Amino acid sequence: MKAYRGALLYFTGPGQAHYESDGLLVVGPGKPDAADTAGATAALNCPRVLAVGSYGALAPRFAQLPSTHFAGRILAPGFVDMHIHYPQTDVIGAPAEDLLDWLERYTFPHEARFADPAHCAAVAEFFLDELLRHGVTTALTFATSHPASVDALFAAAQRRRMRLITGKVLQDRHSPEGVRDDTVQSLRDTEALIGRWHGVDRLGYAITPRFAPTSTPAQLRGAGELAARYPSTWIQSHVAENANEVRWARELFPAARSYLAVYDDFGLMRERAVYAHCIHLDAADRALLRQRHTAAAVCPSSNLFLGSGFFDYAAAARAGFSYGLASDVGGGTGFSPFHTMLAAYYVAREGQTKQGLGLTPQQLWWQHTAGAAQALGLAGVVGNLQPGCEADFLVLNPAATPLLARKTAQAGSLDELLFALIVLGDDRVVERCLVAGQG
Ligand SMILES: [Zn+2]
Repeated sequence: MKAYRGALLYFTGPGQAHYESDGLLVVGPGKPDAADTAGATAALNCPRVLAVGSYGALAPRFAQLPSTHFAGRILAPGFVDMHIHYPQTDVIGAPAEDLLDWLERYTFPHEARFADPAHCAAVAEFFLDELLRHGVTTALTFATSHPASVDALFAAAQRRRMRLITGKVLQDRHSPEGVRDDTVQSLRDTEALIGRWHGVDRLGYAITPRFAPTSTPAQLRGAGELAARYPSTWIQSHVAENANEVRWARELFPAARSYLAVYDDFGLMRERAVYAHCIHLDAADRALLRQRHTAAAVCPSSNLFLGSGFFDYAAAARAGFSYGLASDVGGGTGFSPFHTMLAAYYVAREGQTKQGLGLTPQQLWWQHTAGAAQALGLAGVVGNLQPGCEADFLVLNPAATPLLARKTAQAGSLDELLFALIVLGDDRVVERCLVAGQG
C-alpha cells in the first residue's frame, strides 16, 4: 500500500469534477472485477485506488502508512485517448489538400514501412514514451495492416504495464501495395492476434477496419463475424470525417441508408465499438449510435488541421450517444491532451455550420478522462481516481511555466484553475505519470 498527499482532482459524474486542495490518495493491491476486460484472464494484478478524499479525514485511518507529499501539485487521473494511430507518429504536421490526399501522399507510404518488425518496435517504444510523457495512460490506437505492428505495440505496452487497446488494420482494396492486405488472410491474422493478446494483462484487442471505402464487403462481413464471436473485443474505425470521403462511401455502398449504416449492416456497431470523427451525420445516424451503444471519438485538432468539419456537440447531446476526446495523431497536431481539450473548446464554440456552445473546463477534462473511459466501456477501471479504479495517475504542476504560475495563483474557482491549465498547459505540466502505481 502507498499513500500520496497533494491536491486531488477526480470525477463524481459526467462533467462534474471534485477538487480537494489537501487530499490523500491511497493505492494498493486490488482484485480484478467484472469491469475488467470481460471474458479474459487478467494475469496482471494491477494496483487500485483504495481510498481518496481529504487529508484531514483520511490520514487517521492510514496513520501507519507513510505518504509521499507532492506539495503544490495536483494528483489527477491519467488521460484516455480514444483514437490515435501509432504508425503515424512521424506523419504529424504533413500538409495536404484534404483527408484523401493526405492518406495517399503521406500516410500510406509511412505505414508501408511497418512491414519491417524492427521499425515497428522502434516506433512503438517512442510512441508509448511520448503518450506517457504527455500524461496519456490509456489509448485506443490503430496499428497498420501488418500483424507485426500489433505484436510490437502490445509487447511494448505490456512491459510498461499499460492498459492499451490496438488492432491490425483491415484494408483489402483501394489501398496501395505495401499496406493492402488479403481478405481471407487478414481475418485469419485478426483472429490469431485476438487469441495472442486480448485480455492478456491490461491489453485489449480492437477489430480495425480502416474505413468502409478501403474494405470489400467480404472483409467487413468477416470483421462483423469476428466481432460477434469475440464480444469483449473492441471495434474501431472512421466515419463521416470529410465530405469527399462520405460521397465515396455512398457510391461504394449504394444500398446502405448512410455511411454509418454500412458498418451497422455488417454487424460492426455494438458496445465497445468506437468510430472516429462522426462529423457529417444526420439525426438517424446519431440515433443509431445511441441504439447500438456505439461511441464516437471526437478528434478536434485533426478536424481543424485537415479542414474536415466540426463535431456537433449540441446534436450529440440531444441524441444521447457516448463520446470522448482523441488526438488522432497523425491527422491530429500532437499528443497533448491539453491541446486537444482546447481544440474541442474551439470546435464546440463554432456556430456558423451548427449550433455553437461553450463547454465548461470540467466537461472538457471529463471527456478526456472518465468520459472517454465510459465511452470505451471502461468506467470505474481507468480515467478516474474513485476507489476501485486502476492506479494510473498524474502529478501535475500548475506552476510549470511563469504564465501558468501567475494565472493559476489567481484562480478563484475550480473552473478558472482547470481552464488556465487547458489553455496554457502542455507536457511541462505533467511532472510524473504513474502507470499501475509505478513511474
Ligand atoms: Zn484516425
